[in-house]
Amino acid sequence: MKKVQFAFIGAILGLPLSYYFQSDYVKSKVGGMGGYLKNFGDVVSNSDLVGNVILSVVIFALVGGVIGYFVDENDAKNTKMLNTSGSNQNAEKQTNFCPSCGGKIEDGETQFCESCGTKF
Ligand SMILES: [Zn+2]
Repeated sequence: MKKVQFAFIGAILGLPLSYYFQSDYVKSKVGGMGGYLKNFGDVVSNSDLVGNVILSVVIFALVGGVIGYFVDENDAKNTKMLNTSGSNQNAEKQTNFCPSCGGKIEDGETQFCESCGTKF
């Protein structure tokens, strides 16, 4: 469920980044991002400016949600791939034992037991 986290992070980032949604007049008046954040309380309480803040938060939350959605999808794919390769490895590592002496047979192709020489 990364999309919820990413949407939340996006919404948080949307607060300072709403600076870029404000008009050039506002940008020059606050004197850059630092001044914007210093005066953020005034920005939010200004009915003309708070709309852009909300817009920015919503947009970045959506962007974060979409990124999170793809991260979720990717994680699901990776988990599936890990599971498949894991089961393949188990199949390859399957060991046989000699029916005569119980010795481990490392080579699946071999015809004779390395320990006791029994023919399979
Ligand atoms: Zn044997």
